[in-house]
Amino acid sequence: MRKLLPCSPPQAFEISQKQLGIGIALWGHMTPQSFLLLCSLSLFSACTGEITGDDFHGDEQDLGNIQITTQRVRDFETSTCSTASVAALSRQIAEEMLCMAPGVVSKLEAQGGLSFTSSAVLPYMEAEAAQDLLDAAAEVPIILNSGFRTVVQQYLLRKWFERGRCGIPSAARPGRSNHESGRAIDVANRAQAKSALRRHGWRDPLQRDPVHFEHRSSPDMRGLDVHAFQRLWNRNNPSDTISEDGEYGPNTESRLRKSPAAGFSIGPSCAGSDAANWVGDSCESDAGCELPNGDGSCSSWFDANSDQLQGMCTSSCNGVCPQRSGERTSFCADTGQSEGLCVPQSVGGSEGCLGVTGSRLLPLRRFEQNGLRSQVQTVCAPPQTAAISCQSDNRQGECIDTDVSECPGDLVHGVCPGGNSIRCCLQ
Ligand SMILES: [Zn+2]
Repeated sequence: MRKLLPCSPPQAFEISQKQLGIGIALWGHMTPQSFLLLCSLSLFSACTGEITGDDFHGDEQDLGNIQITTQRVRDFETSTCSTASVAALSRQIAEEMLCMAPGVVSKLEAQGGLSFTSSAVLPYMEAEAAQDLLDAAAEVPIILNSGFRTVVQQYLLRKWFERGRCGIPSAARPGRSNHESGRAIDVANRAQAKSALRRHGWRDPLQRDPVHFEHRSSPDMRGLDVHAFQRLWNRNNPSDTISEDGEYGPNTESRLRKSPAAGFSIGPSCAGSDAANWVGDSCESDAGCELPNGDGSCSSWFDANSDQLQGMCTSSCNGVCPQRSGERTSFCADTGQSEGLCVPQSVGGSEGCLGVTGSRLLPLRRFEQNGLRSQVQTVCAPPQTAAISCQSDNRQGECIDTDVSECPGDLVHGVCPGGNSIRCCLQ
């Protein structure tokens, strides 16, 4: 897996296959390009070119008197109009996500002023979005009629839309819905709730669907639900395994259709979440990077000062990284590769990256294939990671965090993304 390049320290750098994206995308999800292409060919009448606009928003109905026993997901393509028919399976997927990304996914209980209109509204959400929602609901009542949806719920909504059932005017394809992102809600009492939601970081970007709000500073978790389903399927069907890549394709769909609506017999598993290592730990090989997501790798380099190989535990990522209380926060950074890289965040001030051996303090953008890349965080990156480049008066430079790094040349304000301390250091 690892290949050490000839060393011309300190630039010599090796990247494991995982980081290069040759292997499995950790929490990968589909690129929007093919979807946009179909839109441009007008194959979908409902397409607007804006993925977030093409989806079902509004009241997810209750199930009524139907008993969920031995039905498969496919049995509900032509019966019921309630995604609560697959609520048990969806809860397993959400709980599996909690195991895969503790601290990123959180439970969302109806409390304070927050309530749900039906059992089809799953009580899970991205952690920061959930906190801002609860803060808003402490000011005014907020009634959700849709929130986080799993790929299984989205599959049914999409089928009902395609069949003209249930009065659904549009529905994103499974794996693509912004309600799978964990940062989207539809509210039943918009007029009452909108001001408080806006005060707490929620935006209502869809003119056609004003009940829809998004918490856009939160990471987009799309793909994590697909990955969680794939893990559950494989755990229960060892003789018929599929790729655990977070991508929704024909193999995943055929297994999803025949999955038990009442849930798998072997449920979610957090095995590995108490893994021995953490993002940023020193390492010598991939085997020394046992991370909670089961996908750690050792990014290593040659250190000229010590005349030794050094390494840091990292993981490939798409938007979200595992978090664990008592540990340094990890951040999915865009290092210019086809996948993001989970690296430790700087703790700020003189502490910086103390304890993360050999790392380079750099402001980097968050990596997200489908989402925003605007968020910038100062992290402890492997030393050969390139800085964000910047330009001023035809001079080239690198973006640095002046709180923790010195610039030997001229500093320019307002050129680099991120906060006030992030400036362009011209060579
Ligand atoms: Zn919505």
